[in-house]
Amino acid sequence: MKIWLDGELRDAEGARVSVLDHGLTVGDGVFETLRTVDGRAFALTRHLDRLTASARGLGLPEPDLDEVRRACAAVLEANPVPLGRLRITYTGGLSPLGSDRGEAAPTLVVAVGEAPRRPDTTAVVTVPWTRNERGALAGLKSTSYGENVVALARARAEGASEALFGNTVGQLCEGTGSNVFVALDGVLHTPPLSSGCLAGITRALAVEWTGAKETDLPLDVLERADEVFLTSTLRDVQAVTRVDGRQLGDTPGPLTAEAMRVFAERAAADFDPR
Ligand code: PMP
Repeated sequence: MKIWLDGELRDAEGARVSVLDHGLTVGDGVFETLRTVDGRAFALTRHLDRLTASARGLGLPEPDLDEVRRACAAVLEANPVPLGRLRITYTGGLSPLGSDRGEAAPTLVVAVGEAPRRPDTTAVVTVPWTRNERGALAGLKSTSYGENVVALARARAEGASEALFGNTVGQLCEGTGSNVFVALDGVLHTPPLSSGCLAGITRALAVEWTGAKETDLPLDVLERADEVFLTSTLRDVQAVTRVDGRQLGDTPGPLTAEAMRVFAERAAADFDPR
């Protein structure tokens, strides 16, 4: 497998990032995960815009998007995978120990692997803590995913595949790697960006394509929602069958099934909406 590291393609096995890279020592970095089909990346421009916004939010030098585009193209060409997961990682680079970033040049890594298979339906749990939702990292796709890792491990231990976070004012926020939609009385809703959730690219397409409303939702909406589904790059739309102990009715329900249909149709017809 070939990866891109700091300006060139290299064998993944021989590619080395310093043990003093700020991404490793203090989680100082940002990333993107993109879906690829036959060597083409979905919504590349949106992902690069979000990468830039996340880097800006962390105070990292802005990534050179020409280089990132070249890196993505080179990695995809060197590693043919029918359905891929392309990962861009951009960190603070080689830095002194401690939180001070110093003057280091950032590290850029681009790699691709087979996309994991996601079933159409899944169970989720809620977790009793929040994630980066008010602080400096709010809404950024930074590599500080500690809470997400712990929350996902809890979900797995409870036989679920995703965990949902609330926020500090008791509203529904997002999953560890997904945004969340609920159907209430025939209307789809998703938490607004002000809830602290990530500006998911699939979320934005789902809002555009289904007309879902962006609504502040209390966390206990999950106890009465008619339908719940998740969105993310590697899922598109995934129907939720169970939230904590509560089994939802026929899954996917009608609005979820319609969202799945719209994604299958539109994302296939226009594979790269920017
Ligand atoms: N929230 C979080 C915390 C995520 O990591 C992801 C996955 N990138 C999402 C939401 C969904 O975003 P997207 O649709 O851009 O994959």
